[in-house]
Amino acid sequence: MIRAVFPGSFDPPTLGHLNIISRGAVLFDSLDVVVAVNTRKTPLLKPQQIKILLEEQIRDLRLSSVRVVVHNGLIVNYCRSINANVLLRGVRSSSDFNYEFELSILNKQLNGGMETVFLPTEPRYLVLRSSTIKELLKYRGDISEMVPPAVEKALFELT
Ligand code: ADP
Repeated sequence: MIRAVFPGSFDPPTLGHLNIISRGAVLFDSLDVVVAVNTRKTPLLKPQQIKILLEEQIRDLRLSSVRVVVHNGLIVNYCRSINANVLLRGVRSSSDFNYEFELSILNKQLNGGMETVFLPTEPRYLVLRSSTIKELLKYRGDISEMVPPAVEKALFELT
């Protein structure tokens, strides 16, 4: 039984995130999507709201082995609490990889049993970033190709 965890801020959840979740659901017996409470960036959506939006999408995609939780704290501690030893991360570019690689080393230092699996993004999601969506939102740009309709609606309700 391989339990994996996909952590992130998912602020907002994008089609790129959902692509990694769908592919992870095929690779692992169970996948916990962990919405991390982000203290570094100015949040757009609240973690509970992100959880609900992700759950809706996961239900629509019929991914029964995937669940969503909100966690405030070190991800390795969450993994330990559910006996998971795989972290799943998506990679869009070499700069993403540099960052993710260092993060994986750090997590291994914190918990020697932890393995990180990187999935390269699909070409159509290559330039999809939460920061781009935030920028487009400011100017009411079209984000319909980047996020599911329910997420788009939630974001436009903010502005
Ligand atoms: P974090 O603040 O932890 O980087 P994000 O929500 O930005 O949280 O990203 C969560 C994970 O999803 C990261 O592994 C990131 O590389 C991955 N990710 C984000 N956007 C995409 C995308 N378009 N394609 C593939 N992976 C992505």
